[in-house]
Amino acid sequence: MISFSDLPIRDDLRGKSPYGAPVAAVPVALNVNENTHPIPDEVVADILESVGEALKGANRYPDREFGELRASLAGYLGHGLDASNIWAANGSNEVLQQILQAFGGPGRSALGFAPTYSMYPLLASGTGTSWIAADREADYAISPDHAAKWVREARPDVVIICAPNNPTGTPLGLDVVEAVYEASDGIVVVDEAYQEFMPEDSSSALTLLPGRERLIVSRTMSKAFAFAGVRVGYLAADPAVTDALRLVRLPYHLSVLTQAAAIAALRHSDEMLATVHDIVRQRDRIADGLRGLGYLVHDSGSNFVLFGGVSDPHAMFLALRDRGILVRDVGITNHLRVSAGTEAETTAFLEAMIDLGPASTAASMSGLRPSSTQSARSA
Ligand SMILES: *Cc1c(COP(=O)(O)O)cnc(C)c1O
Repeated sequence: MISFSDLPIRDDLRGKSPYGAPVAAVPVALNVNENTHPIPDEVVADILESVGEALKGANRYPDREFGELRASLAGYLGHGLDASNIWAANGSNEVLQQILQAFGGPGRSALGFAPTYSMYPLLASGTGTSWIAADREADYAISPDHAAKWVREARPDVVIICAPNNPTGTPLGLDVVEAVYEASDGIVVVDEAYQEFMPEDSSSALTLLPGRERLIVSRTMSKAFAFAGVRVGYLAADPAVTDALRLVRLPYHLSVLTQAAAIAALRHSDEMLATVHDIVRQRDRIADGLRGLGYLVHDSGSNFVLFGGVSDPHAMFLALRDRGILVRDVGITNHLRVSAGTEAETTAFLEAMIDLGPASTAASMSGLRPSSTQSARSA
């Protein structure tokens, strides 16, 4: 058997690994930051009706400019945005890919602050964009000066700032975005995939859009909105940006079914987002519970918690999996990441952690090997 590296594949892809969050059929999957609360039945029924209507016209190509969906997303975001400010694709991963296709590419570079979302370097690699991993400061925070210095020195064509950051959960002040924008003459993307989990009084980078035509705010329906399976991500930016993305998107990239389902779901945004408060409560329970067990819990503005003090992350990952619970080994030494689930799922996780013992002794408990030759993979 041959491997893809034996094929006449692009040199820069030879030997690379695809995105690979481990999947397993377990009762409690808290590994990819989904909203694990189900969509209410009445909302499902209304979405189904819209999808059924759309199917009747599925002999025709969908609306290539997805005008109604863009208007719905603009209405959801508010901030004086209209359809011309909005772009969408099959998940924000595709949105980010299109941004790199248009503004990155061969001979160009993109910069992010590691550890950050593991898809950024992969999207850079797929689009031939070179990836610059800047670092973070204490407890994964970034200050305006630190960020601006990196950007002034590396002069990237695209900066991607994840706020709150995955996999660390770290919230970000808008002063960092302002400083990066000032320091850069390229595109600045703020990935707000988890913004809905931030305290209600915290400002989004959407407030910075007026007068900043190189700024892009990326959002997704995959996390708070409980719509990961439908694949809808979107952005808000100057209309010139959304116009540019029309050069690189595939024609008709959003199917009639996707458009209909998303428009219908957005009609019910209050119900779709009704679980956010509970998820935040469960996240705080996880943080408190893990702190009580002696783990190092990082501040989170998202729906997940990164915790350290794990002497052997892979062994603990396996011990939890044996108990029917899936968490994520994000490749940060002595750390694991867990998503906040429903109350019952969160309780199951916390009980399993109690069962495994406090941080200092967890390594010697059942199913855990004390070795720790953990290689630092990107998160
Ligand atoms: C989950 C996530 C996304 C969303 O990806 P989709 O393609 O919209 O499902 C984007 N950015 C970050 C940082 C994420 O964690």
